Amino acid sequence: MNNTPKYIVDGFGRVHDYLRISLTERCNLRCFYCMPEEGIELRDKSEFMTSEEVLFIAKKYVELGVKKIRLTGGEPLIKKNAEELIRELGKLPVELSITTNAILVNQFIDVFKEAGIKAINVSLDSLKTDKIDDISRRNYGDRILSNINLLIDNGFKVKVNAVVMKGVNDNEIIDFIEWTKDKAITVRFIEFMPFGGNKWSWDKKITQQQMLDKVYNFYPKANVVDIESKPNDTAVNFHIKGYKGSFGIISTLTNPFCKTCNRIRLTADGKIKNCLFSNDETNLLSSLRKGDDIVPLMISSIQNKKKERAGITSFNDVESEGIFLKNRSMTTIGG
Ligand code: SF4
Repeated sequence: MNNTPKYIVDGFGRVHDYLRISLTERCNLRCFYCMPEEGIELRDKSEFMTSEEVLFIAKKYVELGVKKIRLTGGEPLIKKNAEELIRELGKLPVELSITTNAILVNQFIDVFKEAGIKAINVSLDSLKTDKIDDISRRNYGDRILSNINLLIDNGFKVKVNAVVMKGVNDNEIIDFIEWTKDKAITVRFIEFMPFGGNKWSWDKKITQQQMLDKVYNFYPKANVVDIESKPNDTAVNFHIKGYKGSFGIISTLTNPFCKTCNRIRLTADGKIKNCLFSNDETNLLSSLRKGDDIVPLMISSIQNKKKERAGITSFNDVESEGIFLKNRSMTTIGG
């Protein structure tokens, strides 16, 4: 009798049916809040999942009820044979999507369409080319902005993720919202979070409330319309009356949304992180290469998940520091 469960459920009854796969730790940008200044340790490629291993593990997760797969990185589109892998993943019975910095998307429009990708998240922290280049320590600002337009013109549902940092881009919140006036785009403002090497500190963040204060100081309250959240939504969403697009706020620091968490993260080196902040990782890749059955590990890694933020009670107290300061850098997690 086959006792394999149909779904992966944690100790709090949360069904985990959304898999985020990091295809690579490498990136063609050097955003200071994601990639440590000194870069990341370049490891032998044998330590990372091959495309065949990504596909194998993804298929196993689909058998365990995964309904949505998001490809992340580093920058997923720089992975060798990314085109072929995306096409193969597109054949799985899941909603396939991707988070990218958009530098290379002009070369992938047809691949995305063939793979059935309809929704694309783009990481972008400013609308000013010089500031984009400052934050990312590369000069692709113009290309990223024009490629976002290319994605919209090709009918993709585009969400732009902007990490809001005090004194860096918190003065652009209204500019981003005004960008949604004539553009059917969703901008999500993300509270700046601590990850390995990103020099985070509590005083560098802008909270959800501070962002909303800026919104209500600029727009008449009646013009700011709440958008009802869907079950596993990470953002609280709004739109300005008459505007084509919308905006949202993802506030893990000050308003965690862990109650409905359905996310599983597979890192590029084949480890399962059952939470963005968890340091307890399960090594699927080494078991797979030993020829072991990885399903029990896939299930147990989620059963051991903590209720909220890997046990971090607050990002503003020393106790929790021991957890979040030990975490990987964002580029080696995949967001
Ligand atoms: S912090 Fe962890 S538990 Fe909470 S929503 Fe994010 S991944 Fe899920």
